[in-house]
Parts: sequence; structure tokens; C-alpha cells
Amino acid sequence: LDPEEFRKQGHMVINFIADYYQNIEKYPVLSRVEPGYLKKCLPESAPYDPEPISTILRDVQDHIVPGLTHWQSPNFFAYFSSTASTAGFLGEILTTGFNVVGFNWVSSPAATELENIVMDWLGDMLQLPKSFHFSGNGGGVLHGSTCEAIVCTMVAARDQMLLRIGRENLGKLVVYGSDQTHSTLQKATQIVGINTENFRAIKTTKSTGFALSPEMLRLTISSDLEKGLVPLFLCATMGTTATTAIDPLEALCHVAKEYGVWVHVDAAYAGSACICPEFRHFINGVEGANSFSFNPHKWLFTGMDCCCLWVKNPSVLASSLSTNPEFLRNKASDSKQVVDYKDWQIALSRRFRSLKLWLVLRSYGVANLRNFIRIHVKMAKTFEGLVRMDKRFEILVPRNFSLVCFRISPSALISSNEDDEIGMVNEVNCKLLEAINASGKAYMTHAVVGGLYVLRCAVGATLTEEKHIVEAWNVVQDHAQAILSTY
Ligand code: PLP
Repeated sequence: LDPEEFRKQGHMVINFIADYYQNIEKYPVLSRVEPGYLKKCLPESAPYDPEPISTILRDVQDHIVPGLTHWQSPNFFAYFSSTASTAGFLGEILTTGFNVVGFNWVSSPAATELENIVMDWLGDMLQLPKSFHFSGNGGGVLHGSTCEAIVCTMVAARDQMLLRIGRENLGKLVVYGSDQTHSTLQKATQIVGINTENFRAIKTTKSTGFALSPEMLRLTISSDLEKGLVPLFLCATMGTTATTAIDPLEALCHVAKEYGVWVHVDAAYAGSACICPEFRHFINGVEGANSFSFNPHKWLFTGMDCCCLWVKNPSVLASSLSTNPEFLRNKASDSKQVVDYKDWQIALSRRFRSLKLWLVLRSYGVANLRNFIRIHVKMAKTFEGLVRMDKRFEILVPRNFSLVCFRISPSALISSNEDDEIGMVNEVNCKLLEAINASGKAYMTHAVVGGLYVLRCAVGATLTEEKHIVEAWNVVQDHAQAILSTY
């Protein structure tokens, strides 16, 4: 690694990315390539001789960029955004530049200590109870994804429970969520070795805004107890993926506590909004939970990947996840005065992720971060208002944050057979989404809730402005007009 050569090539790469952002609106948001396209463009094997970065960057432009779906485009309204920012990039560059592997304190003290500090800062910003802070005997850790966070907390809950009831009872443990809980819970359940028949996706309804009902939870737990099963883990969601439904934390924690169930709160997307005082009430009751996670890579301008997990009792994570091979022994760890994050996660090795979060928090400050979130929410409100003004459309569920769930309403179609109506409305909306995305001018995704197909316009890309919202709505209207004329 020659520092001068790195400086030269580094400038070229930064320039390349800056140009990419300058031109990002020229690309179709959803990639148009066909499966297997790249194999046709690239050589059969790795080059024997070195190639210059200029040649490689040309191939990135010619072959890689066409195969990108442009998540950072201002016209990206799919899934939930992964918000980029200058500070997030620069933090990532520092992380990659140092390339330290901070599995325990001694392997890079700054990596561990900055993570401790940043997690407490963020805990303060979210007004998490003191019991989740290091100063309150809890603590926070950075994972790459919610899935990892849930696997680790579920393993801790499992082992605590099995210690009480005996390992032979693993097959009796039950995990609870709703039919709106992210599939990551099911995956975690499988990984952790819970009997897949003991995974409960409790049904939600439109009348409760697709939120998990505490009464339904109680009934389900009671029924499991009658069968001799052992309730273990509840994942409550603040901001579900399909519609941003909010599970009532306080009441759910109350039920869970009665039965000794571990509660994890998944606020992957909407957690970021809770840095704004007006949204904080959505996590009221979090003090009753055992663990809480959210993804700054979704809506806190931090870039992939970054999931914050707090637990009230870190020692239970460590008792499930800790190993102490001789080659890692050191005085600091033996002193028990330091955090060894290898014991809070699945892998041994870990990235210095807190640097990018630290840069984001310092470069923008809480005031600006709140402002960015409020601007996104305001733009979503604009989109929602445009939908409401067009009588051919309906809003399926009230908007909570920056996601608008909408569809062509049944009243826009003349149906001779009521039984066929739901199917026909779903079909029309599916066609509408395909047409919007094929246009290349906007990219949205869908959900099916309560049997209804709904389009999701998730506002949240860093570069999106009001004009992009208006343009996206024009695209929706134009295609709706064309599709409806054929029905
Ligand atoms: N939970 C919720 C509510 C989500 O919306 C998502 C992704 O959109 C996830 C979990 C998955 O997160 P990850 O990819 O970090 O595992």
C-alpha cells in the first residue's frame, strides 16, 4: 500500500462517486438488466497482470452502474431508504482506512470506547430509559442488521430460560410476533433452533391499524400454556415494514412481563424518527422491554450497514455468546473493566462502525438530523395530500411517518361481480406498480395487508425534494389513467 498511489487513486474514486451523484437522475431508478447480464460483459477469469484504476472505473461505469438499482436516487420510494450522507461516507472511509478489527477492547481500544460513547449519545437522543445505557448497567452495541440483533437477543432469552427449565425443553419454547412482523423474526427463530411450529404470527386487522393486539397476545400465550408449551420471546414492532403500524409497547410489555416473556422492540425504520420529540411517544413503554433496536442505515443518514441494539442486561448476551480462547487472553479483559464486544454478537471480528455514526452525529448535530426527518415526513404528507385529492385513489392506512400506503380504489372500477372485485382491484394495482417501475422515473414497492394489494411510497432518500414528489405523483396518475381506460 503506497500512500501516494492511494492518494491519487482515492481522488479518482471520490471524483467518480461525485459524478455518479451529479448524474444520478439520468439513470432508470430500477435496474433494467436481465439475470446473468454481467457474465456476458466480464472476462471468464481474473486478470493475470494488474490493470489501472482508470480501466476498472470505466468498467464500473459501463457494466456495474447499469446493473444498479439506484437506492440513492431522489426518485427512489421503494422498501425503506438507505440514507447516504457526506458524513456517513467519510466515516466509512475512515473505518475502511484504519481497517482495525476491534473484537475486544485491547484489539483497538478506541473502537470499543467510541462505540460505548456513541451508543449512550444515541440512547439519550431517543430518550431511552437509563437502564439501557452503560451508566445504568445496560448497554448498546452496533450490529450489521436487525436480524443479527434479534438472533443474539433470542439466543440470550433461550439460554436463560433453558437454564431454568432444562435444555431438554428446547422444543417447548414459543416465539411471538404479528403477521406484520418482519420475516427476520422467523429467520432468527429458525437459526436459534426453536421448533418452527412454535412460531406465532398473530393475526392483525385493519381495525387496529395492523398493530398487534395485547388481548390476542394474551389469548395466544394462554392457549400455548394449556398445551404445556413455554412462552419465550416477543418481537414488538414500532413501524412495521408493510404499513408502519405501531404495536402498543406498553400494553404488550405488560402482558409479556406476566408470563416472563423477553420483549424485543424492532424499530428498524421508524426508530430514527424518535429523535424528534413529536415522535418519541411512539416508543412509550419501551422501559418494559428487554432489548431495543433500530437501523441508522435506514433513516439516520449513516449508510449501510448499521443497526443499534440496546439491552438492559448485557451479561445475559455474554453468557450465551462469549468464548475465551487462550490467544485472546489479555489483562484488560481479565480485569472485567472493559467491554469486549465479541461477546455481544455472532462473529468474532467486527468493523469500527461507530466512526461513521460519530461523524454523522457531529457533522449534522441533533437539530439538523431532526430537521431532515421532518422534511421527509412533510414530503410524505404532500404525497398523501395529492393522493387524497384524486377520487380514483384511496389511502389504505393513516400515515405515521414518511410512508404512504395507497391504491386505486374499488370505486374507480366498474365491477359486475362483487366476488371478483378484490381480485380485480389487486390486479389493477399490481399493473400500476409494474408500469410505474418500468417507466424508470420512480421506484415504489408493494405490500399485501388484509388481502389487499397496496402500493408503498416510502419517502426517505437523502436527495428527494418536493419536486420529485410531485413528479412521482404525475407518473402514478399517468399510468393509472392508461390502465383504468382498459377496464
Ligand atoms: N424490521 C423491520 C421493521 C424492517 O422494516 C426491516 C427492513 O426493512 C427489518 C427488520 C430488516 O432489517 P435488517 O435488514 O437490518 O435485518
